[in-house]
Amino acid sequence: MTFRLFGCVCGQFHSPGAGMGMAGERVSVPIPFYVLEHPDGVALFDCGLPTAMCDRSESYLKALQTQDLDVTLTPEETLTSHLQRLDIDPAKVRFAVLSHLHFDHAGGLRELPNATVVVQRREWEAGFDREASQHYGLRKRYFDLGHAVELVDGEHDLFGDGSAVCIPSFGHTPGHQSLRVRSRQGDHILVGDACYHCGVVESRQFPEYSDQVAMNRALDALLALREERTVMVFGHDPDQWGARPVLPGTRA
Ligand SMILES: [Zn+2]
Repeated sequence: MTFRLFGCVCGQFHSPGAGMGMAGERVSVPIPFYVLEHPDGVALFDCGLPTAMCDRSESYLKALQTQDLDVTLTPEETLTSHLQRLDIDPAKVRFAVLSHLHFDHAGGLRELPNATVVVQRREWEAGFDREASQHYGLRKRYFDLGHAVELVDGEHDLFGDGSAVCIPSFGHTPGHQSLRVRSRQGDHILVGDACYHCGVVESRQFPEYSDQVAMNRALDALLALREERTVMVFGHDPDQWGARPVLPGTRA
């Protein structure tokens, strides 16, 4: 069985360094999503930003700016542009596995009309709970789009062959999950926002709104999954997407 895993950068997030657990008054970090081409179908892990961010017509930008946050996205970086370069028809994407429901991870879902959304049940429920969705900034307009939804509880083997397994990593949001992709070259653990970047492994500087105890526990559990050739791919790590990206991808 052969499959391919790609990493794609779908825009940049701009924020005060402290919010990302990084030095510097303002930092810019990549917003990645991942494409897994499996014999039984194409799965995405996360979906990047909504395309309407390109021309800045997305109204949520204003709300972000009041929190000193911004995003930028070029037309070449959209989810659809990346899939086109990989010769993948967005309408044929089978699974959209979401680490969590933040707009920079679920935003491209609108471009995948036939995908089944695979998400932890507790994340989905938080998305529809008034208090939790407000606290964690989960906006229905990015995920409640009428897709088929597969709610999972804890670990979930996506294709039933161990090649891609959802690993619960709660805390960043109530039902955050990561994805372990297994190949002959070793594992890639797509960490998502359970750990923004390499420095957080040591600093344990997590977002203020997150459950600190749960995030520490989740990160410890993810790190314990490492084997000799395991690559941890962090949620927004500029060092993993520069001149030598951690995964092959498509170049905008
Ligand atoms: Zn997030």
